[in-house]
Amino acid sequence: RAKQAGRDGWARYDAALGEALRVRAALEHDLRRALAEDRITPFFQPIYDLPGRRLRGFEVLSRWNDPERGYVPPDLFIPLAEELGLIERLSEQVLDRACAALTGWPTDLPISFNLSPRQFADASLPRRVLGILDRHGLPGSRLEIEITERAVLADLEVARRIIAQLAAVGVRISLDDFGTGTSSLAILTQLPIDRIKIDRSFIAEVDLLPERGKIVSGVLALARSLGLDVTAEGIERDEELAFLAERRCALGQGFLLGRPQPAEGVAAMLEAEAGRAAEALRAAV
Ligand code: C2E
Ligand code: MG
Ligand code: MG
Ligand code: MG
Repeated sequence: RAKQAGRDGWARYDAALGEALRVRAALEHDLRRALAEDRITPFFQPIYDLPGRRLRGFEVLSRWNDPERGYVPPDLFIPLAEELGLIERLSEQVLDRACAALTGWPTDLPISFNLSPRQFADASLPRRVLGILDRHGLPGSRLEIEITERAVLADLEVARRIIAQLAAVGVRISLDDFGTGTSSLAILTQLPIDRIKIDRSFIAEVDLLPERGKIVSGVLALARSLGLDVTAEGIERDEELAFLAERRCALGQGFLLGRPQPAEGVAAMLEAEAGRAAEALRAAV
């Protein structure tokens, strides 16, 4: 009996594993097709300065809208692209399209672009990234690169060289999801980081939870004393915004301020803004 139960257990396990492999193989197949058809596109989430709420830039977030699957979240397809060695190609396609959009907008604002861990261990990264900027006639100052602690630690020496080469042409470096890694503070002493992005998990209900409030206040003080810029991620409520503005957190992003949107949405938003500015100017003279 025990033997029979064991066999049934294994059979069930086999079936489940087989099913998981099929699901994954299908996703891989569709991801390759999406890349070949250039279906992974940049969305742009606005970043604002907190007291004035003036627009200060955009974070580029990859979106895959599949004709059959519908919306596939980046938390699903980015790790798969990394595993399959497709992340370089994905990044280059999305950055290229983001730069193309940027050059068409009436603005000098920068975009902020996420890179995966393994890209930060690849010495050819600066050449690839700068090649794309060049192709669109954009200076390095229009780009910020977001990296996670995980990314950097793989090979600190290579990461340092990559950052130096990017910094030499004015590209700035942000440490993303700050506070969630195992060595957030160590990284700050090891690499020339320009900005930290306080992870969304600390911002949620920061006004209501005293512990969280103290941590965020402490991180802001730390950043100030190290001369680092700060962006708060995931601001969803007015009270969170007020809490951060009161403590002079310079920049913020989140659903309260603006959701990620396609390039056409940004263009419309910038044109409306330019129109309002022109009107204010006419009213003033
Ligand atoms: P991330 O870089 O930390 O990006 C911020 C994530 O928070 C985005 O999720 C954004 O849509 C979401 N978000 C922004 N404001 C709010 C808010 O107020 N509330 C909530 N609940 N969420 C908010 P998204 O677009 O699903 O991306 C998830 C992660 O996938 C990103 O986290 C980033 O690590 C990765 N990712 C996205 N696009 C790329 C890419 O092109 N390359 C790489 N390497 N990673 C990417
Ligand atoms: Mg990011
Ligand atoms: Mg983040
Ligand atoms: Mg994140």
